[in-house]
Amino acid sequence: MSLLLTGAHVVTMDDAGAEYPEGWVLVADGRVEAVGDSTPPAADRQVTLDGAVVTPGLVNTHHHLYQTLTRARAQEADLFTWLKTLYPVWAGIDEESVYAAARTGLAELALSGCTTVFDHHYVFPRGTSGLIEAEVRAARELGVRIVASRGSMDLGESDGGLPPDSLVERLDDVLAETERLAGLQDDGFVQIAVAPCSPFSVTGKLMEESAQLARRLGLVLHTHLAETVEEEAYCRELYGCTPVEYLDSLGWLDGDVWCAHCVHLSERDVRRFADTGTGVAHCPTSNLRLGAGVAPIRDLRDGGVRVGLGVDGSASNERGDLLLEVKQALLVARGRGGPAALTVRDALRLGTRGGAAVLRRTDLGSLEPGKRADIAVWRTDGLALAGAADPVAGLVLSAPHRVDRLYVEGEAIVRDGRLVRADEEEIARHHRDQARRFVP
Ligand SMILES: [Zn+2]
Repeated sequence: MSLLLTGAHVVTMDDAGAEYPEGWVLVADGRVEAVGDSTPPAADRQVTLDGAVVTPGLVNTHHHLYQTLTRARAQEADLFTWLKTLYPVWAGIDEESVYAAARTGLAELALSGCTTVFDHHYVFPRGTSGLIEAEVRAARELGVRIVASRGSMDLGESDGGLPPDSLVERLDDVLAETERLAGLQDDGFVQIAVAPCSPFSVTGKLMEESAQLARRLGLVLHTHLAETVEEEAYCRELYGCTPVEYLDSLGWLDGDVWCAHCVHLSERDVRRFADTGTGVAHCPTSNLRLGAGVAPIRDLRDGGVRVGLGVDGSASNERGDLLLEVKQALLVARGRGGPAALTVRDALRLGTRGGAAVLRRTDLGSLEPGKRADIAVWRTDGLALAGAADPVAGLVLSAPHRVDRLYVEGEAIVRDGRLVRADEEEIARHHRDQARRFVP
């Protein structure tokens, strides 16, 4: 079965940055078959897009889906205060609330044009089970690709860590569960990552053994790093070095690793990331919301570091909209480095091709023959793009927008701005019921 999307401004995000202002995309068997702007080929089915912008589906490289249950808390807190306020609340999550949260977060992201979602889940209250399976179930129902992770915390307060002792796990349990969950992986729709939480909530031993496990199983590896000045002070006091030096000493920095935030990096740190192939999930809104600072994205890109975008959890970025994050990345880069610090196309590249590179997914992130047909269609005939001389710049600079159509592996999961396989209102109702339990 083939599908032709035609009459669109096609942004391929290939190596040359090719765009086809009067373009088309041909999809066959879930893959991009061809892209162009001459006479379109024949297809079993054709959709005429009336000048819409077509981009690769966006790729989210950092999230905590369960946090949709606890939005708008600890509103003026820095990271550590915010975490300490929320840990006891998060201790109440279970399979059903995580499922409700995942459906909500994934639906929001899909409606913002996102086709692949990485989720960093590291809260496993004692006695709970099936939390990662609940996320995967939600993703399958909506049709979104998920990179789920078995996160972890094993450094409790009494050992000098930040989380309460009641929320940390035993190292052996974490590793055994991670290995079990690796069995959930299937054909590009479900990928599993290994993701101990952070230097201030995980022991060095678990960090090292997580990396060894990931490498033995061929899984990608992720953690939070260098988010705030308080984290740097914590690492200097406890480990006698910066967060990046600490992770380096544990044998982490490598091409199968990406770290969230990386706001506070020295020039040496940036070089080390470049030399080792370590990637970065840039989460500009969350960093602004918590007053953490602005990551040096221009320096990282100039150094050749892989960079993708993340909305981060909904308790530190109440809007799960990845196109908005593309715009935020552009704005904060310019706030830090001036108007030429990041172009519209570079920002959009971070949210598509960059994210795919961070997740080590060469099959995603661009519209080129052979890639999986994950495609976002954005209308250009609404009020916000009226008068936009360049529809791609108009789209990014006036974000956020609800995506008009979203295809995953060639199948529409959003049509006319509505979820195809789920009912948005029902998801919101179920979430309200579950979130009630977390009200202070
Ligand atoms: Zn995070």
